[in-house]
Amino acid sequence: MKPAPFSYERPRNLKAALAVLGQASDSVKIIAGGQSLAPMLNLRLVQPQMIVDITALAELKQAERHGDELVLGACITHADIEDGRTPDVTRGAMHRVAAGIAYRAVRNRGTVGGSLSHADPAADWVSALAALGAKLTLRSSAGSRMVAMDEFVVGALECALRAGEIVETIHVPAMGATAHWGYVKSCRKTGEFAHAIGAVLIDPSAGTARIVIGAIDAAPIVITDAAKLFGGRIAGDYKGRFDPRVADAILAKAGVSNAAHRHIHVSVLTRAVREAAA
Ligand SMILES: Cc1cc2nc3c(=O)[nH]c(=O)nc-3n(C[C@H](O)[C@H](O)[C@H](O)COP(=O)(O)OP(=O)(O)OC[C@H]3O[C@@H](n4cnc5c(N)ncnc54)[C@H](O)[C@@H]3O)c2cc1C
Repeated sequence: MKPAPFSYERPRNLKAALAVLGQASDSVKIIAGGQSLAPMLNLRLVQPQMIVDITALAELKQAERHGDELVLGACITHADIEDGRTPDVTRGAMHRVAAGIAYRAVRNRGTVGGSLSHADPAADWVSALAALGAKLTLRSSAGSRMVAMDEFVVGALECALRAGEIVETIHVPAMGATAHWGYVKSCRKTGEFAHAIGAVLIDPSAGTARIVIGAIDAAPIVITDAAKLFGGRIAGDYKGRFDPRVADAILAKAGVSNAAHRHIHVSVLTRAVREAAA
């Protein structure tokens, strides 16, 4: 199938893009890499009257370290991170996540901002950036606001963006020298979306942990008080104290009623904890 007719704008700078988005009706869609939007247009699952192409916005292609955080423009592609064209503040964690997304043709065009805005629960950045404690700057012609990743994805294919807003930048805190990272996803075959994701950021020295259970057909489960998964205490020997029953109970409480699905999620999370501890 082919998309329904639409008008097309390709602004040359962010200010012009925000002006177009601010004046447009509800029936407007931003396009970045087009890896999710184009198939939806072709299948006529979305039929916007206008498409605003943000691929010419140099402001959204910057990637710089500012102090203790990486500030990524929304149009940075998965391949930019995979190929090391962005500063590494996560000791290789983001590089590994990027390299595991789909296959190279998708990674060449797909953007981090597009992936987060699309808010597919099975998308890698949705879980990984929540575990890394990232925040997003959302900008409109009226101003900007910052939203934590934990609050940005509110449901399957639903995010906190308001009409006229764009994801401008993603702010990723630098990973501490004593932090451990584990990221495991389960896919039927390479290049497919995951059906379970476990992301783990543990700092045994600080006694802190963030754990994300993703690809659950809803917003990912972000556990910031993750000590309860380790008998109440995060310390050097945390791997041996990981309690899968607590993870199972969290999934059940989140509405994952199928025991087989919970088992897959718990197994994937257990592997992510082991990877972090290795
Ligand atoms: C075959 C295939 C396999 C894939 N496998 C995986 C996978 O394993 N893991 C994974 O994570 N992803 C996967 N993807 C998705 C891919 O990562 C896309 O990059 C991503 O979903 C969308 O990014 P995009 O830049 O192409 O966005 P687009 O398709 O251009 O846009 C997606 C949505 O986001 C909105 N949008 C885009 N940019 C912005 C912005 N800056 N501000 C506000 N709204 C914006 C658009 O309006 C649209 O609603 C796969 C895609 C394909 C085609």
